[in-house]
Amino acid sequence: MILIFSSDAKEKDVENAVKKIESLGFHPHLSRGAIRTIVGITGDDRAIPEEEFNQLPGVEQILHVLKPYKLASRDFHPDDTLIKVNEERIGRGNFTVIAGPCSIESTEQVETIAAYLETFNLKFIRGGAFKPRSSPYSFQGLGEKGLKILRDSADRHGLAVVTEVLSAHEVELVGNYTDIFQVGARNMQNFALLKALGKAQKPILLKRSMMGKIEELLLSAEYIMKEGNERIILCERGIRTFETATRNTLDIGAVPVIKRFSHLPVIIDPSHSMGDWHYIKSASMAAIASGADGLIVEIHPDPLHAKSDGKQSLKLDNFKELFEQLVKISKVLKVKVC
Ligand code: PEP
Ligand code: MN
Repeated sequence: MILIFSSDAKEKDVENAVKKIESLGFHPHLSRGAIRTIVGITGDDRAIPEEEFNQLPGVEQILHVLKPYKLASRDFHPDDTLIKVNEERIGRGNFTVIAGPCSIESTEQVETIAAYLETFNLKFIRGGAFKPRSSPYSFQGLGEKGLKILRDSADRHGLAVVTEVLSAHEVELVGNYTDIFQVGARNMQNFALLKALGKAQKPILLKRSMMGKIEELLLSAEYIMKEGNERIILCERGIRTFETATRNTLDIGAVPVIKRFSHLPVIIDPSHSMGDWHYIKSASMAAIASGADGLIVEIHPDPLHAKSDGKQSLKLDNFKELFEQLVKISKVLKVKVC
């Protein structure tokens, strides 16, 4: 349920409502928009007593939020959320390009990529140290050694780190190195991990699972938000369909749907959705045109010898071509590639 305050409601009316909500054992969530102040109420939906709020001064309207997710919904938070990561901003007119290797393989590999990203004035590097591979015989990542390599290169080149955490008990370890925790597709509904990340003090990049519905993705975001961490970036990375020409099917339609129902930023992963470097530029252009807030894309100095996902990784000069194309499109769309 949400309480919508009239435009002339006083500060003490809002404070009063917040106190009332707490005194009844529910949780208030304040959202101050440009025009209206809204206070969302969470708790057991069926038990929220509407009559207690009907007569409160300043309350103009009471609405029931029918979506199963609340904090992630636009009803609770009409304005787009801007995520702050150190000095950088994700969302609200920024098109954030996060690039890097699928797996961290060596100091030299990461250093080459980090130095290259710096030449574009980009601010985020990705790379996996704990890899969720489909086969237990595939390269599983360098673990903490990889995290150290990534952190060192990122610091040398003024980049923020995005890396995957696989389980709740590794949140602390990964948190010592990363700026954004990535939740991979296979973990979208690992609720123990989501709850642990809800208590973390860093933003989360939450990937949609290959069989996850948009509503389920938003409910997974809700798990994190309910624990107190509201800094979430959603990621569409392709879903499994009957089509086998691409690794997954990029659901570009997810972008306007998510934007309609949620205030959280949403980015596209063209690499894991398409699965082949030939299609990355096209999928990335679709991403920026669709209104997505950014990209997370795999690049590698030598894709042929990559330890994972070489087939879908862009060579550095192909990344340059993509970047230049994005900058051209961004001028028409009036967004900032950063
Ligand atoms: C990745 O980003 O390296 C990855 C494993 O992605 P996903 O979880 O989308 O498969
Ligand atoms: Mn990968």
